[in-house]
Amino acid sequence: RTKIEGRNGFHFFEPGMDGQTLAKRGLERDLRGALQRGEFEVHYQPQIDLLTGRMTGAEALLRWRHPVQGLVSPADFIPIAESTGLILPIGRWVMETACRDFAAHMSGLRLAVNLSAVQFLRGDVVALVREALRSSGLPGSRLEIEITESLLLEKDSNTLDALKALKEMGVGIALDDFGTGYSSLSYLRSFPFDTIKIDRSFVKEADTNSDCAAILEAISALSAALDLTTVAEGIETEGQLAYMKNLGYQCGQGYLFGKPMPLEDLFHMTAGVGIPA
Ligand code: C2E
Ligand code: MG
Ligand code: MG
Ligand code: MG
Repeated sequence: RTKIEGRNGFHFFEPGMDGQTLAKRGLERDLRGALQRGEFEVHYQPQIDLLTGRMTGAEALLRWRHPVQGLVSPADFIPIAESTGLILPIGRWVMETACRDFAAHMSGLRLAVNLSAVQFLRGDVVALVREALRSSGLPGSRLEIEITESLLLEKDSNTLDALKALKEMGVGIALDDFGTGYSSLSYLRSFPFDTIKIDRSFVKEADTNSDCAAILEAISALSAALDLTTVAEGIETEGQLAYMKNLGYQCGQGYLFGKPMPLEDLFHMTAGVGIPA
């Protein structure tokens, strides 16, 4: 087993590559080209205050407009981008694009951007965010970053320092997909979260499965006690909306309110006027 260090120091290569490895190599090449050719887009999904029904902000979600395959979901290429290190330039592009979009066109609305664990462990997220805020003019208080438990599992001491530095810039920290993974409650104590986002697998069964309902209720009470804002992910029906609201969830995101959409459509939703070209 030979290990060849790539430019980022974490490319792995095995002699006699199997079909899967070859496919991965092809995808890596395609991803690299996609960034250069400008095939990535950032779409935005509205986040709604469940009490008032008003939009409070939106989550930036990466899309790849593939010349042959059409719009490709991040679930299909983020893992390769992470294992090849391409998530560093791609993630930077997302952060800069989304901050610029929001500073220019979405006055007052908050922006949530997903950061991969690889960006924390191999990149400098504090410098990345500082630069994106500086060049766009977006105030730190309008940005929230979303991380998952996989990052916290790494027990990297720099992670906590980075999160604290982001908070000092006014940036919010959200724990994404809560309830999947390990969901160790000690994370909630050890890291400076502002928001927890309940995974949509729970929300999906909120009004039909009593175990899910019990878990959702406990998380709601815990969040209130810890002064964390709760976001319910993946609300698709009026029933789920009523249920989550009733349990005290403050914010919601889901197809019921809007799917991820291009900036232009989000702008129409908020102002009803087109973005000047
Ligand atoms: P996520 O951060 O948990 O984003 C929410 C996902 O749930 C999005 O999938 C969104 O389209 C989907 N979703 C929202 N509401 C509903 C609903 O009502 N029903 C259903 N069935 N799905 C809903 P998407 O856009 O495919 O993204 C998948 C994941 O890819 C994201 O999960 C996030 O982990 C990752 N991702 C997306 N963009 C980025 C990015 O710029 N950087 C990084 N590192 N990861 C990203
Ligand atoms: Mg997210
Ligand atoms: Mg999520
Ligand atoms: Mg996710």
